[in-house]
Amino acid sequence: MENTVGRDRRVLIAGGGIGGLAAGAALANLGFRVTILEQAEDFKEVGAGVQIAPNGVRALGTLIGDAAHPMLQYMAQGACQALEDVVRLVDEVQAQPDDIPAAFSAYAEGRYRRTARVQFSARQLIEVCQVGGVMAEVRRSYFSQRSDEQKFESLAWLYSDRAGEKFQ
Ligand SMILES: Cc1cc2nc3c(=O)[nH]c(=O)nc-3n(C[C@H](O)[C@H](O)[C@H](O)COP(=O)(O)OP(=O)(O)OC[C@H]3O[C@@H](n4cnc5c(N)ncnc54)[C@H](O)[C@@H]3O)c2cc1C
Repeated sequence: MENTVGRDRRVLIAGGGIGGLAAGAALANLGFRVTILEQAEDFKEVGAGVQIAPNGVRALGTLIGDAAHPMLQYMAQGACQALEDVVRLVDEVQAQPDDIPAAFSAYAEGRYRRTARVQFSARQLIEVCQVGGVMAEVRRSYFSQRSDEQKFESLAWLYSDRAGEKFQ
């Protein structure tokens, strides 16, 4: 059956990265008419991200992916979090299709704690990954004493089903 949540309304997406393309595809599936504007003629590295606070986000509409929460590489979560954003955004739009600004706000409100935790965790891992000397010995000793179960448990908040259906 055709999905009519979007009711042929127009959505403009700036940026054709994984976040923009995934959001475009998901919203098109809901029946929105999606236009994606991509500045780059070809795909290559586009530089550093900028953290934009909630007041800026309100002015912009909504942000997803690296534009909303640029992060260091140590958790390998940039694209994963962009895709989680899209799932949550679509959930919120489906929940209140008559009030898109409210849906965007609910999405931002529902996502910032988890994405911030991933950002902080990636930053903390610098201390683990990039040390030498005594600190490297401490690291080896610490991790060698942890069981596989403990290692998996420490990442359950990120990877397991308990992370929550709505990624919050
Ligand atoms: C080497 C490397 C390895 C990685 N490994 C992993 C991994 O294992 N797992 C993981 O989850 N993530 C990984 N990442 C991170 C992941 O690739 C990024 O977090 C993800 O691609 C971000 O997607 P995005 O759509 O948010 O942003 P981008 O991919 O940056 O897309 C933004 C797009 O917007 C366009 N744009 C910008 N400004 C404008 C404008 N004004 N008008 C129109 N278009 C505009 C840009 O040209 C760009 O195409 C890795 C990244 C790198 C570099």
